[in-house]
Amino acid sequence: MRTFFYSLKHVVDPHAFYIWYTLSEYTEKDEAKLSILDEQSAVGREQALRHILTGFSEIGAIHDHQQTVPIENIAALKKSGYTALPVETKYGGRQISLSEMLYLQQLIAEEDGPTALCIGWHMGTMYQLVEEKNWPKHWHEQISCDVVEKGVLLNTAATEKATGSPTRGGAFQTTAKYERGEWVLNGTKTFTTLAEHLDYYLILATVEPEKQVGLFIVPQNTPGVTVEKTWDMMAMGSTGSEDLHLKNVKLPSDHFIKKQEKNGLPTAWLLHIPACYLGIACAAIREAAKFANSYSPNSIQGTIAQLPHVKQKLGEAVILYEQSRHFLYSVANKWDNSDKETRMQLNTELKMVKYAVVNNANRIVDTVMRAVGAHSLSNQSPLSRYYKNVRAGLHNPPMDDMVVHAAAESVLQRES
Ligand SMILES: Cc1cc2nc3c(=O)[nH]c(=O)nc-3n(C[C@H](O)[C@H](O)[C@H](O)COP(=O)(O)OP(=O)(O)OC[C@H]3O[C@@H](n4cnc5c(N)ncnc54)[C@H](O)[C@@H]3O)c2cc1C
Repeated sequence: MRTFFYSLKHVVDPHAFYIWYTLSEYTEKDEAKLSILDEQSAVGREQALRHILTGFSEIGAIHDHQQTVPIENIAALKKSGYTALPVETKYGGRQISLSEMLYLQQLIAEEDGPTALCIGWHMGTMYQLVEEKNWPKHWHEQISCDVVEKGVLLNTAATEKATGSPTRGGAFQTTAKYERGEWVLNGTKTFTTLAEHLDYYLILATVEPEKQVGLFIVPQNTPGVTVEKTWDMMAMGSTGSEDLHLKNVKLPSDHFIKKQEKNGLPTAWLLHIPACYLGIACAAIREAAKFANSYSPNSIQGTIAQLPHVKQKLGEAVILYEQSRHFLYSVANKWDNSDKETRMQLNTELKMVKYAVVNNANRIVDTVMRAVGAHSLSNQSPLSRYYKNVRAGLHNPPMDDMVVHAAAESVLQRES
């Protein structure tokens, strides 16, 4: 069958053919993938994930080119049970640690950054739910079971046009009113990653008339919920982070999950963000090294890998990568091995990890591209993709100026 199509290669658009061929081949391979949930050990899960990741990079590149969601990658992760790993074992998950989750997320990002960011929001949400256990019991149980058995996906829709980044403390324009025994939600969320492919949206809204912020769970097929395809970004353009409209969305009273907490546990789960950009940086270093080892212009004997300025740039990038890797995983390990009291004190450290890793990742990709030269700018080179996507990390929370401010405050308070 495939040979027949292959013979058509020259009469159909070669690019369209390549996309069709890669996607169909991938779907067939996917059938053979094992459940990662069957693996008892972290090493076993890492090996299983590496197997699942076959083809992710090629699929990611196609979707990056088309600016569409790498849905085959997302489907493979769901099907393998990966998306259920943070769930408690009593519901069929593996309740993995923060460090393990970040490492697995990094491995995905090394293949395709947008896939890692898309699935990272869900993974982080589930990790946070298991750690904090502050949802109504029946929702905790239902979502945990549905994630394991049906592969449902969740993400929080917080950002709005008028509010900007929710981390700034602006009031949400999306409202929730309790009327005649049900909640009615109205508003529009922006930047909702994977919007078209989620099963549940976690909506932050201003509860009226109290003006408190509440978290609501909204099933995807609820009347009044629509996704508008507005996402047209040069970075992370294949994450489908669309606008989400809520027009007179009526919800049973129990869909109110909780009030937004001001002094809760620090949001360690957000470290999936630096893990993602560290993965992109790692992939960029590898790609640059491969290129340097193979590129041999006729002005030199051998390859450019022997040139001192190329080595200098690659070396600087590797040092930045190692600094970032150690910082990310040492803080994650500290989190995993701390009690609640110590975790409460890790807030600034967690923020500094994101700041350092994401800024280093941007520098790493920039530096190795200078080593590679103009070939790195080609749309066929993965480096041009890494360059665009790594940039998005600067605008994921927490924002740089807030982290720098918090870091300064920490030393000022300590020395006062
Ligand atoms: C790839 C990607 C995926 C995302 N996915 C999601 C998602 O799934 N769900 C979700 O809810 N959000 C998501 N976001 C949104 C993200 O969390 C931010 O809300 C968004 O990027 C806007 O950030 P901003 O800093 O540009 O915000 P803005 O508030 O629009 O800020 C614009 C500029 O003004 C400055 N500024 C604004 N207000 C202040 C202030 N009060 N004090 C100081 N400076 C200020 C900022 O520093 C920035 O330079 C995503 C973003 C990206 C890039």
